[in-house]
Amino acid sequence: MTITQADMEAVAAHLLLTERATTHCRQKLTRVAQQFQHRITDEESAKVMFAVEAGYEFNHGRVYWRCAMRMAMAPARLHAIITELVRTGLLRDYRDPRTSVRTLLPAHIHLDVHGGSACRFVGEDLGPMRTRLSDDLALVDCRDCLAEAS
Ligand SMILES: [Zn+2]
Repeated sequence: MTITQADMEAVAAHLLLTERATTHCRQKLTRVAQQFQHRITDEESAKVMFAVEAGYEFNHGRVYWRCAMRMAMAPARLHAIITELVRTGLLRDYRDPRTSVRTLLPAHIHLDVHGGSACRFVGEDLGPMRTRLSDDLALVDCRDCLAEAS
């Protein structure tokens, strides 16, 4: 078997998504409201963040994976995790007003400056909001943080 350039690029893309999926676990949680309810673990939340960013689709009506993933997760559990990710600001549940199609949008990854974002985005210090943080500029996709860094 020969490893092709495309194989290497697929592996690199997978590793990048894996790193992105865990950026919300770096934040130091100071408020009870920031903690996931229902005993949701960092690993479970990272799996769902990975799936969203990898382009997997969820059907919110009946809550099932439209694309088969090699992970055992009951629909009710998946629904609980998505609900918590939305509640803590890590995902946005966007509903297209014309088609009523719902899309889960991941929060931006901010530049980590001493456990907070470089841009100090609105909501960061409020209520249940959690922050996706990285000190790797290749992962940061917040324009304000990137502007701060340049
Ligand atoms: Zn930012």
